[in-house]
Amino acid sequence: MQQMNDGMKYKIDEALKLLCTAPADRQALFDRADKIRKEHMGDEVYLRGIIEFSNVCSNKCAYCGIRAQNTKVNRYHMEADEILAVAKQMAGWQQGTIVLQSGEANSPEENKRIGEIVKRIKKETNLAVTLSVGNRSKDVYKYWHDCGADRYLLRFETSDPKLFAEMHPDCTLDERLACLDALRETGYQVGGGFMIGVPGETKEILAKNILLCREYDFDMIGIGPFIPHPDTPFGNKTNAYKDDTDMFFVAVAVLRIFNPDAHIPATTAFDAVFPGHEGRNLVLQRGANIFMPNNTPQKYRGDYLLYPDKPCVDEDTGQCAICIAGRISLLGRKIGEGAGHSKKRLGD
Ligand code: SAH
Repeated sequence: MQQMNDGMKYKIDEALKLLCTAPADRQALFDRADKIRKEHMGDEVYLRGIIEFSNVCSNKCAYCGIRAQNTKVNRYHMEADEILAVAKQMAGWQQGTIVLQSGEANSPEENKRIGEIVKRIKKETNLAVTLSVGNRSKDVYKYWHDCGADRYLLRFETSDPKLFAEMHPDCTLDERLACLDALRETGYQVGGGFMIGVPGETKEILAKNILLCREYDFDMIGIGPFIPHPDTPFGNKTNAYKDDTDMFFVAVAVLRIFNPDAHIPATTAFDAVFPGHEGRNLVLQRGANIFMPNNTPQKYRGDYLLYPDKPCVDEDTGQCAICIAGRISLLGRKIGEGAGHSKKRLGD
């Protein structure tokens, strides 16, 4: 990673100070983040409908429920027609973007299959396409971009090289960051982000995570609490903020303060920690402006459990779409029309 300059050091100290806001003063921090969100991103909440189209994975990420070694998981992959059938309904649900997410099955056949799916979606719908399928070579990223993919989500998970190594036997932090560089050079709108409270994370690391997002000038930044999955090596570890879960919201608020023009989603993991949809509703009032309804057909949802207590596992495609419309209007916000591209690169 780059040598930190003095300016960056100063900003990290600033971020750290905000992260250490006393509980009694946190509401003021949340209000500040909400105000910045409103001024920079408006009241529109853009919907990015996610399809978890395959859980086939060859990686051994120590925290992830669909890691290759978890033999309890039934592996599936959705066929192109099945994905297209969902994609074609999305405009009717006011979703301008489709997010295709999967485990990492990095083979020439799978890479081609993904490219063909992207081409069909671009031809048969007006959706913006976001891919979230992990580390690949620059050539593969370029091929998918040529097929029509607009955006790519790849979290760096933590900015700390040592922690990153404990979490990822398959790659280094530098390799992950090189992927993010390659995506930017290829012309994607790039989404990064991290998990909050990975075991061993300090508030200094959290501050650096936030500043790394700024340094990379990400178009979208997804962050969510680390949740231990019992069938993984991190299964018996605990979240670093287990006894102060409001820190998850503090992290989002500080992220917004340091990244005023980025799209920030209210990620699903917040609903797993604060059930009854409370988590994601609160994040939308503390810095976030994007919601990602789950469009995965119900029959697959139980096999895409990156972490336990994932919400809406018993619901089917389309139900999240109906539920979210109510949630957003209750918050006094409105659903954004169109694709909701990056404000930084393409205007909106
Ligand atoms: N294979 C793709 C998609 C990963 S799943 C990739 O690696 O980019 C999307 C995100 O889920 C990951 O980036 C990670 O931050 C999050 N995730 C995985 N396991 C998790 C857990 N146990 N708790 C919280 N978030 C988790």
